[in-house]
Amino acid sequence: MFPSLLPTYNRADVAFVRGEGSYLFAEDGQRYLDFGAGIAVNAFGHAHPRLVAALTEQAGKLWHTSNLYRVPGQEALAKRLVEVTFADTAFFTNSGVEACELAFKMARRYQHVSGHPERFRIITFEGAFHGRTLAGIAAGGQAKYLEGFGPKVDGFDQVPPGDLKAAEAAITPQTAAILVEPIQGEGGVRVLPAEFLRGLRKLCDERGLLLIFDEIQTGVGRTGKLFAYEWLGITPDIMPIAKGIGGGYPLGACLATAEAAKGMTPGTHGSTYGGNPLGMAVGNAVLDLVLAPDFLPHVEAIGNYLRQQLAGLLAEHPMVFEEVRGQGLLLGLKLRVPNTDFVAAARKQGLLIVGAGDNVVRLVPPLVIEEAQVREAMAMLSAAAKSLAASGKKTEAA
Ligand SMILES: *Cc1c(COP(=O)(O)O)cnc(C)c1O
Repeated sequence: MFPSLLPTYNRADVAFVRGEGSYLFAEDGQRYLDFGAGIAVNAFGHAHPRLVAALTEQAGKLWHTSNLYRVPGQEALAKRLVEVTFADTAFFTNSGVEACELAFKMARRYQHVSGHPERFRIITFEGAFHGRTLAGIAAGGQAKYLEGFGPKVDGFDQVPPGDLKAAEAAITPQTAAILVEPIQGEGGVRVLPAEFLRGLRKLCDERGLLLIFDEIQTGVGRTGKLFAYEWLGITPDIMPIAKGIGGGYPLGACLATAEAAKGMTPGTHGSTYGGNPLGMAVGNAVLDLVLAPDFLPHVEAIGNYLRQQLAGLLAEHPMVFEEVRGQGLLLGLKLRVPNTDFVAAARKQGLLIVGAGDNVVRLVPPLVIEEAQVREAMAMLSAAAKSLAASGKKTEAA
């Protein structure tokens, strides 16, 4: 019989019933240390009292009114996001891919109203991930996500990441924008060189293109800055965000400069649920927490500590680990054993981590972890590595 739940995921056989801070509790009472955070979403862990209060308080007042009316929470959150970023304006969505979709539409529309209706193509990079709608998989360009879904949505041209010459060569009279993740998360925590990203900025300026940074995974404190572009000394024109901004509530946004957004006049875009009062209550509370003094320095410091510990782990298990990558609390371990095996072995030890492309596992814990959780995770990672090395020896002997 066909599963009543559409079987598009290879799910682990564990169901969680409760969360507290950086820990999750399964049906059988087993406790797990969560270094996956719902795939880099639960920036403040599980059941953070401030976020619970924000959501439940709003839930008792008003859930949804639609965007036919003013939504005060949207006005407040947009104003705050504008104050702390390069952006002049924000549109709220329910997910990352919707924020990306608006970024694509906005870039095309910008060129359209700038006297270049012929410019609609967007240059993207191999290994990218921009979500799973038809435009999202075309932008990401990964064969495994495109296969069997008919002709790829037109308008996305892919080049190797890190190759400025290739990006320049891909520009045609039809190019509207360049789209890049400052760190490719899904693709394997691949940090793109600052020089390369600055080069893209320059290229866009010279050629009248918009620069779109997909900060859905890197944003909202994940790298130790509010947004990863702050490390680079440049700003994008358009920036889809999601994941961390909702802390687990489905929320995204597309931020942009006034210039980039100038084509988005009434009627050009919309969403029934986007920016509903529940999401806005949580988003504003998340921003309170992430903007608190000392919070981002904490992320940077604990990220450096974790990274240092991971370097030690690597030295201890050179047959299992190849490399440590990433920044802040967006860290990856490139493995010499299949990453799916390692994720399962870590889970057996009580640690949740997430696979990524390029045979990498991602360590993307809640941003609120402390050194005690890092030490706990290190012990479990080490035990998982030992268990795999031991089973590897057994297969060799057999
Ligand atoms: C997760 C992610 C997306 C897609 O977000 P959804 O909420 O799953 O639609 C897009 N881009 C990046 C960089 C992401 O990490």
